[in-house]
Amino acid sequence: MISFTNAHNIQLFQDFINRESNSIILRDKNDSFRVILPDDFMSGIFNPDEYLSINGNYIYYNEARCNEIELTDEERLSCIAHELGHYYDETEKNEYNGKIREMNADRFAVSLELGEHLLSVLNKFRIIFDGNDRERIDERINNLQNILLVANQEQ
Ligand SMILES: [Zn+2]
Repeated sequence: MISFTNAHNIQLFQDFINRESNSIILRDKNDSFRVILPDDFMSGIFNPDEYLSINGNYIYYNEARCNEIELTDEERLSCIAHELGHYYDETEKNEYNGKIREMNADRFAVSLELGEHLLSVLNKFRIIFDGNDRERIDERINNLQNILLVANQEQ
């Protein structure tokens, strides 16, 4: 199982481990991720406005931002799942693969049974975003709904 180096003892990351430690896709993985908060030295490698994001083995958690849009604990867990999905996605990072990489990360969250919560995160984002950003979110919502539909049929 993966682990989080969690100097701040953020319960959210412990909750993620407790919830997902038996999941098929994470059970055999052994990667360790260091939790970075906005005031930490390493936070400079992140866009400070992000809610949750990943950069190599560093995972950034901006609790204040998440509180602003009143993300529930489960919605935050779904964001962690999405970010880990980026970590494990082998699709090359380039200007053309952005959308497919987002879809792969969303699919990863669905595999961890957090897809419905991620969908509700995206619905909160779409209210505060506009223009191109909202278009991108709408496309993700569409794709995620289809992924969930297929996943539910396969059960
Ligand atoms: Zn993403």
